[in-house]
Amino acid sequence: MADLHELTQRFLQLYQESAESIHVFHAPGRVNLIGEHTDYNGGYVFPAALTFGTTLLIRRRSDRLLGLASTNFTDHKHLPIEPIVYAEADDWMNYPKGIVNELQQRGKTFDTGFDLLFHGEIPNGSGLSSSASIEVVTAYALLAMAGYETDTVAIALMAQRSENEFNGVQCGIMDQFAVANGKKDHAILLMCDTLEYDLVPFESGSYQLVIGNTNKRRGLVDSKYNERRSQCEQAVEDLREAFPELTLLGQLSLQDFNSSKHLIKDETVRRRAQHVVEEIDRVIRSIDVLKDHDLAAFGQLMNQSHDSLRDLYEVTGMELDSMVEAARDIPGVLGSRMTGAGFGGCTVSLVHEDSIETFKTEVGRRYKEATGLDADFYVCKIGNGVEQLS
Ligand code: ADP
Ligand code: MG
Repeated sequence: MADLHELTQRFLQLYQESAESIHVFHAPGRVNLIGEHTDYNGGYVFPAALTFGTTLLIRRRSDRLLGLASTNFTDHKHLPIEPIVYAEADDWMNYPKGIVNELQQRGKTFDTGFDLLFHGEIPNGSGLSSSASIEVVTAYALLAMAGYETDTVAIALMAQRSENEFNGVQCGIMDQFAVANGKKDHAILLMCDTLEYDLVPFESGSYQLVIGNTNKRRGLVDSKYNERRSQCEQAVEDLREAFPELTLLGQLSLQDFNSSKHLIKDETVRRRAQHVVEEIDRVIRSIDVLKDHDLAAFGQLMNQSHDSLRDLYEVTGMELDSMVEAARDIPGVLGSRMTGAGFGGCTVSLVHEDSIETFKTEVGRRYKEATGLDADFYVCKIGNGVEQLS
């Protein structure tokens, strides 16, 4: 958690004196524990909010300007709160701007502007959803400050729409949903196309979640992501011969898939679909084993998930594979997998607390040996979704 005293000092240096008080909001980052590349296929994901994220200090202004600053970036601006226009030069500010725009498009009016200072603890662009975190904290804070209802499901949808339309990033709903609706010590079983969800207790006892950042730039991720999506669509089209109503792979049980997969003509497309259907099944099995407090079985499912993403869906790459391989060799590791879209980004492992130091040194050393890159590790606890702190 950020040092609030220091952040307040920074805020007061940046912005003019005012009699209004500064309010503080926080939204977490998120990690997906299992259920990868299932979201756009109408399947389950299983993310959890982290205890670290984005803190926002916000204060009402007397005019209609919007002050934007972040401790993570040097640029700082005041813009009219209306109209909001996307500008390449505004860089990161286009995320909060998109939210202000989205809220206004939905009829939320603001009598005054606000001064905002963000402080992010999530590494940007590593798949822990710093973008969703900044979006959701902005939406929640602005709604609360203006006296509107703060429905966290509606906020997640608005934030996703803003990222899709204002920022031109075709993300699904998982990130914003987890960041908005997470709960301490719970993971979220979420069906992305219906938004049905369930908070599932995640009691890890003497085990901790350790996130490993490969620090590999995710260069090809967009084109590969789009390719995977169209392969899934192709699989659905082929399978409609047996299931005319089928629109998404997630609507098929593993059994129905296995008895009809011969209809998928292309072998690669068939493997992609196999991953999706089996991965959804693994999420469902995860809930069962977690209810039985069987963390070892959950670790096995994490391992299977990674192996499937490597062999069937082919979205891992040598950096994620090396890190996961090194992690699994450490005694006290129950499971390890890539998390996020793949091709770089992060891994998540379930590590016994006595093994964490060895884990960091040994996995870091072996990863560097294999890739030449330095890894970063974050020992995580599951935290709450967006909230007002003061
Ligand atoms: P990810 O969501 O995986 O971290 P993205 O590329 O989707 O990566 O989003 C990262 C971008 O979000 C940053 O480059 C920046 O523009 C914006 N952002 C995230 N956190 C902050 C922050 N604390 N302050 C300013 N901008 C931020
Ligand atoms: Mg993002």
